[in-house]
Amino acid sequence: MQQPKYRRILIKLSGEQIKGNDGEVISYDMLDFLAQEIGRVHRHGVEVAVVVGGGNIWRGHRAIERGMDAAQSHYMGMLATIINALAMQDALERHGLDTRAMTAIKMDEVAEPYIRRRATHHLEKGRVIILAAGTGNPYFTTDSAAALRAAEIHAEVILMAKNGVDGVYDDDPRRNPAATRFDHIHYLEALNRGLTVMDSTALTFCMDNNLPIIVFNALEPGTIERIVMGEHVGTLVSN
Ligand code: UDP
Repeated sequence: MQQPKYRRILIKLSGEQIKGNDGEVISYDMLDFLAQEIGRVHRHGVEVAVVVGGGNIWRGHRAIERGMDAAQSHYMGMLATIINALAMQDALERHGLDTRAMTAIKMDEVAEPYIRRRATHHLEKGRVIILAAGTGNPYFTTDSAAALRAAEIHAEVILMAKNGVDGVYDDDPRRNPAATRFDHIHYLEALNRGLTVMDSTALTFCMDNNLPIIVFNALEPGTIERIVMGEHVGTLVSN
């Protein structure tokens, strides 16, 4: 049997992925679909960590523009990611996966606190870990949490899920049909051109720590599995 290229991966799902297209804040169909996709790679023995965003419920900046205290609003965003993490955990378990949700803001009744060594222990035991509450610090994003946690747990790659866009383009492909997709792009070029990989703080962190990122279309069934098995899909962002 073909061996996977990666043994330990971190998947970043934004709130938009969990929202799906059916108008609900959390889409059951999307949760089921994502759980299936994660199950497909888990069956190959790949260790999977998932960082979930919260933008389908709350984004810090949204309220700051209306005069809300910034830190207060960011904490609300972090709490939103916990709601999504619990929904994702439920879907993964319904699909037969063993999981642990871990939070960067303690919430003992609903999830474990994030402790790095415990997180890697869960991965070694074959549990999918869902990392919630971002970094636990206001003013950051779950992109930064994905980068930070990937470095901490020695994930070999960060898979940045996008809804309907199959990589990094030189312009917005939804508005400009002439936009072209990169197979590979260097961190610095992506940063300099302001391309939508992840936010610039997170991307700089990945560059400094030499963490490869693959941007892919999460709506295309089987994509995560193809990536894990070594196929070149989407855009690789690296040195
Ligand atoms: N957030 C934060 N610190 C973190 C991660 C997230 O303050 O380490 C807040 C921030 O306000 C952000 C919100 O939580 O807007 C939701 O996260 P994010 O925007 O990254 O979610 P996504 O865009 O991936 O759905």
